[in-house]
Amino acid sequence: MTPTPLKLCPFCGKPPKLQHWTMEKFGWTVRCSCEIKPETCVYADQEKAIAHWNTRAQDATTAALVKALEDATASLHRLQAHYGPNGAPGWNGMLDEARAVGEAASVALELAKEA
Ligand SMILES: [Zn+2]
Repeated sequence: MTPTPLKLCPFCGKPPKLQHWTMEKFGWTVRCSCEIKPETCVYADQEKAIAHWNTRAQDATTAALVKALEDATASLHRLQAHYGPNGAPGWNGMLDEARAVGEAASVALELAKEA
């Protein structure tokens, strides 16, 4: 199984290293060799080390953005469900617009969650 991709180091922006320790520690860590030298705890399971490394605190602005995009996406899905794939007469243009906004919101939401 391919391990989950590692997010870049939050301090220097460079790729960290997944390391398997067999001498002074036993298990897996994720670490970066930059000046800060961030490193996870040692985990027996490499996926746990990766999950902890990839965890990022969300600031209030990002959390608000994620909430707004989730609300907008849910609202558009309700609109599409209500009017169906072909929409009501005269609504097709608006549905195309709504679909485009929904797709853009979904992409933005994924990016905001990854940040
Ligand atoms: Zn770093």
